[in-house]
Amino acid sequence: LSDYEGAQARWCPGCGDHSVLTAVEKLLVAEQLRPEQTVFVSGIGCSSRFPHYLKTYGFHGIHGRALPVATGVKLHRPDLTVFVVMGDGDCTSIGAGHWVHALRYNVKMVALMLDNAIYGLTKNQTSPTTPQGHPSNTQPKGSWLPALDPISLMLGVTNASFVAQTAEWVPAHLAATLKAAYHHDGLAFVRVLQRCPIWTPGIYQRAVQRPENIELLVHDDGVTAPELERTYTHRVAHDPRDLERARQLATPGERIRLGVFYRNERCARYDVIRRVPPRTAAERRALLDQELDKHAV
Ligand code: SF4
Repeated sequence: LSDYEGAQARWCPGCGDHSVLTAVEKLLVAEQLRPEQTVFVSGIGCSSRFPHYLKTYGFHGIHGRALPVATGVKLHRPDLTVFVVMGDGDCTSIGAGHWVHALRYNVKMVALMLDNAIYGLTKNQTSPTTPQGHPSNTQPKGSWLPALDPISLMLGVTNASFVAQTAEWVPAHLAATLKAAYHHDGLAFVRVLQRCPIWTPGIYQRAVQRPENIELLVHDDGVTAPELERTYTHRVAHDPRDLERARQLATPGERIRLGVFYRNERCARYDVIRRVPPRTAAERRALLDQELDKHAV
């Protein structure tokens, strides 16, 4: 791992970001990604310090703008492997417009949204994913509105091709999800549930302490690991090509669901289409189909 280690991470002790960083470093090692061919782009927030802690190229950008910056990097240097790391405020509030359109553009990259359900770096302001009733500095009597559900929202975006949810305290699931996202041909959006012991210490506690409060999505080529099967006994079979079923499963319920909700490698990719020279609509469609076939698994 030392080949990829950057500066000493300065997140709080017990912060879930440490776990995500470790999982990402292991992915870089397992996939033998060359540091000089790999780029991490982030916005602003605790998790957005990610690029400093890796010995790859990195771009610590401006609030909410990680996805357009990363899209630009990938369009101009398609040979690079691009990761995006965002927090929930960064991605789902100020960056919400970019978030929707990046999923629709479907440029090949891995987009991680580390969701601690609060603005942590700026010290405790309600974010769109803060649970209703949770107090913060901006809403001290408790968040007024129901929390935004990022998975349901992304499953509603036309041309979204990969939508998954994992949790940083389930390292085997996190690692398997990152691997699936990395190998996806298109934009892989992964919401990582992330503990913040400083500002939102209790929000995931039920699921952390009691594995029966988690339900895993399982399918033949899905995210799995033997240790998961021993610990997490609640499972639901799901074909990630079935968008309607994915939307049903995404509805928040008694248990937190982890897994790949939706995956479709036939979605149009802007980074592929723009390389096709403009001709007639029929020729363009045929060329695009050829390109998609090349990328199909
Ligand atoms: Fe992590 Fe929360 Fe500390 Fe930020 S404030 S580094 S999210 S524990």
